Amino acid sequence: MGRVICIANQKGGVGKTTTALNLATLLAVAGQRTLLVDLDPQCNATSGLGHKPSARHALIDTRPLRESFVTTAQANLSLLPGARSFQDVDALAHSTDSQSSMLATHLAGSLGSFDTVLIDCPPSLGQLTRTALASASEVLMPIQCEFFAMEGLTQMIDVIRQVMQRPNSRLSFGGILLTMYDASLELTAEVDREVREFFGEVVFQTVIPRDVAVSEAPSHGCSVVEYSPRSRGARAFVELCLEVMDRE
Ligand code: ADP
Ligand code: MG
Repeated sequence: MGRVICIANQKGGVGKTTTALNLATLLAVAGQRTLLVDLDPQCNATSGLGHKPSARHALIDTRPLRESFVTTAQANLSLLPGARSFQDVDALAHSTDSQSSMLATHLAGSLGSFDTVLIDCPPSLGQLTRTALASASEVLMPIQCEFFAMEGLTQMIDVIRQVMQRPNSRLSFGGILLTMYDASLELTAEVDREVREFFGEVVFQTVIPRDVAVSEAPSHGCSVVEYSPRSRGARAFVELCLEVMDRE
């Protein structure tokens, strides 16, 4: 079975979806059969790839999951669209672990034909994120270089540790990614230093700069590399992709 990278952070607006979209596109460009799974009821990854959300998320449907995979304009890149009704599932967040492991089994059982699967998580530590963690081989955490970045991170890591104990001993820390990096800010440099001191090698060498091209790309239905290949953002995502492939 290939890699399943869960992109998670319970905070919103830290760059999860942006990372998922750009990384998925670049892995596909590099020739990897790639699937992007949209688990966020906001469905930004789905619309970012020019698709409409499903009425009901395939994951809570009884049909075989692969019937719901859709192809995208990018060769080698498939999508499992999100659904807004998936909020219903997250509302069950405080119910049983067994439900989440059932979903995880359903998901993991259908991923065999891909080299790499990226899962874009919602901004919560609810059942959807736990399901993603339960079916993943690694977790990638984007964080924004701001004052509260570390605080949320320790909470997230507690949940990851729990999932690593049960039900998913295959799960590892894939990396921490510093996003919306602004080298001119003192605070950015401070968070960078602190995070690297604390987490060491787990932190990607690559940082994703704050770049307007990155935020504009989705409205043109493409990755930043296609939208503005020479931009700083595009170069950073290429670097990140190489680093991710290197870490396999
Ligand atoms: P999340 O999925 O964690 O909620 P998003 O990926 O949707 O976060 O990013 C939040 C917002 O920030 C979006 O409007 C996105 O376009 C913008 N954004 C993300 N990364 C960058 C960046 N490197 N430079 C500029 N804007 C960015
Ligand atoms: Mg998102």
